[in-house]
Amino acid sequence: MRNVSAIISEIEQAEKMLVCGHIMPDGDCISSVLSLYRGLTWLGKKVTPAVDWNIPSIYLNFPHTEKLVHYSVNMELPDLMIVVDSSSPDRIGRFQEFLKAGVRTIVIDHHKTNTDFGNINWVSPVYSSTAQMVFRLLQIMDVNYDRELALLNYIGIATDTGFFRYSNVDSSVFEDVACLVKYGADPGYVARVILENKKLEEFYLERDALDNLKVRCSGKFAYSFLEKWNFDKYGLSEDEFSGFVSQLRSISTVEVALFASESSRGEAHISLRSKSYFDVSEIAKTFGGGGHERAAGFTLTYEKGLQEALEEVIEYISERLEEK
Ligand code: 5GP
Ligand code: MN
Repeated sequence: MRNVSAIISEIEQAEKMLVCGHIMPDGDCISSVLSLYRGLTWLGKKVTPAVDWNIPSIYLNFPHTEKLVHYSVNMELPDLMIVVDSSSPDRIGRFQEFLKAGVRTIVIDHHKTNTDFGNINWVSPVYSSTAQMVFRLLQIMDVNYDRELALLNYIGIATDTGFFRYSNVDSSVFEDVACLVKYGADPGYVARVILENKKLEEFYLERDALDNLKVRCSGKFAYSFLEKWNFDKYGLSEDEFSGFVSQLRSISTVEVALFASESSRGEAHISLRSKSYFDVSEIAKTFGGGGHERAAGFTLTYEKGLQEALEEVIEYISERLEEK
């Protein structure tokens, strides 16, 4: 809590702030950035919310998402940058320039692989989501929650817990979410917008991904992939197709699931999930990424094809899984 007091005093002193999330943003990232933006604006601060990446289209249904700015070389340096849900500097895209320029930086995150790259780091893997940490911070700062802020803040807790199913759910999640629902967040609405809003083409992509599904290690390891041409075929981008890795994990025998999506030739995003004992954040770290014990990821770069490059990763994970 010492860090929280230090964060509050930094915020009180700053005039112009940038609140920045990570590339390939997910619900927790978008929710944390926009909740802090709304909360600190309510306190009278000048705040710019930012993510140096496109926002997945389903999130554009929520208020203020259109305000998330990208990095521009002409941007004025803020007095303070608050980085949320990002475990290392490479995760914030071109906003790394602000770190290099010496902008005072606060990091708020729940990834255990966080490299503590801020001047003040509040990094606590006990929280389900960064959005839950933002909720606690704004409560301490006596921010008034209207329906819109409650909705924005709820989104990140819901999505990072798989809608209250994952092992990161504890009683504190329900306590905090109960407050947000009292303040006006509508769980049914959020679930509809995020879970029941699929494009038909996503099903076709799932069909392709099912065709590529393989299992190893007596069924303990399931993996699949989609190449760039699969996405092109249906006119979808890689960041509009998520969630398949959780489906792979749902196979009864599976402990570890891997899903690879090729974003451009020579580059793929790898998503890892585990069910009960295998620490996938260690695997992700080995390949230059990070995350949590049960959900992690990294970017794989290669010269030849994705399938060939993936073989090495599959082998590496299989060996470690067999040891357990
Ligand atoms: P996802 O598989 O949904 O993209 O990510 C799962 C978790 O791993 C998230 O908490 C995400 O922040 C983290 N993660 C995914 N990709 C990367 C990456 O390239 N680098 C780091 N440091 N973390 C990642
Ligand atoms: Mn998160």
